[in-house]
Amino acid sequence: MPTPLPLLPGQLIDGRPVMLGVLGGGQLGRMFVHAAQALGYETVVLDPDRHSPAGRISHHFIEADYRDADALRELAARAAAITTEFENVPAEALAELARARPVAPAAGAVAIAQDRIREKAHFARCAERSGVAPAPYAVIESEADLADVPADLLPGILKTARLGYDGKGQARVATRGELAAAWRGMGGVACVLEQLLPLALECSVIVARGRDGQVVALPVQRNLHRGGILSVTEVYEGNVPRALASQAQAATVDIANQLGYVGVLCVEYFVLQDGRLVVNEMAPRPHNSGHYTVDACDASQFDLQVRTLAGLPLPQPRQHSAAIMLNLLGDLWFDAAGAPRTVPWPDVLALPGAHLHLYGKTEARRGRKMGHLTFTGPDAASVRERALAAAALLGIEAF
Ligand code: ATP
Ligand code: MG
Repeated sequence: MPTPLPLLPGQLIDGRPVMLGVLGGGQLGRMFVHAAQALGYETVVLDPDRHSPAGRISHHFIEADYRDADALRELAARAAAITTEFENVPAEALAELARARPVAPAAGAVAIAQDRIREKAHFARCAERSGVAPAPYAVIESEADLADVPADLLPGILKTARLGYDGKGQARVATRGELAAAWRGMGGVACVLEQLLPLALECSVIVARGRDGQVVALPVQRNLHRGGILSVTEVYEGNVPRALASQAQAATVDIANQLGYVGVLCVEYFVLQDGRLVVNEMAPRPHNSGHYTVDACDASQFDLQVRTLAGLPLPQPRQHSAAIMLNLLGDLWFDAAGAPRTVPWPDVLALPGAHLHLYGKTEARRGRKMGHLTFTGPDAASVRERALAAAALLGIEAF
């Protein structure tokens, strides 16, 4: 029999603390485990990698593929409720688990976020109310679609409908010839072609929505991407113009409401050079741009994930410190000549307001997210000064 919600901190089931489950053992799962354990829950993680960052700190770890039926049954048997940290987890696995246990987010919402075509259609519907539309785009599933592409979508960015992340599965194309070559190069899979927009800045908003429909929004994050990967997130008063921040928060709440979403959802936006806000994509889980909340807010995005999963109250979170987060990619573990180097952590940690988070990955590789470093302080000027000092020590380009 499924245990009814809420799953209370300290509650025992058959003499053991309530166990919460997570599909995916990456750094997001690891920080979910931290937040769940702080409230006294036990955790179970399912991931194919035996050295996964979350698996190595969880009470229980199931090493298996996301489609392994026996492993999913074991997860459902152990966990009182289940979430995901990995957006490409098969939606069918979530649907299967939901037959036995409360699952948040639901398979249907994850399936939409996994498919850029369905995601953009959802955004376009929401835009009729919020006024925040996606970039002009066309769906490309056949040679005929290629021929029909309106000229004003070029130059554009071709993106695979499924399985893209960190800029993978994308190509910039300037002409019809390049478009056709890029699409065929991607194996002719379903894609969207988006108009290449003149960006002034990028930002994101994270919301948490409970089963009762209550929604809380975190502050707007200003994000800098480099090489298709998030590099820096800045969150403080004035990081983006106030009117845009409110518009982005309202649009995100609407996107979550219209999905009937339960859990933590992040929506990424572009601010164009003419000041317009455009919605880019969503992640049905906590997001890299929300890691600062662990150190700078009175409830982190992972606390909110635990609360929405367990059915606990969702008071409006408050950011108590200005914050800048630097992503720590594996590149930092190598010197200019490509030889392994010792990262100067003592110098970095001598800076006031530094919060270092390493994910326990034993092998550094270029572009691999090894950890992040958040600076908190009383105001934007002080956190910028310290974050820039850390960036210089680490060899991260100034911002
Ligand atoms: P993520 O790691 O966020 O999942 P992704 O691979 O899904 O990334 P997008 O967020 O779609 O990719 O795009 C990656 C980056 O490429 C964006 O953050 C932005 O800098 C740039 N970009 C994407 N689409 C456009 C566009 N239509 N016009 C201009 N720049 C764009
Ligand atoms: Mg993105």
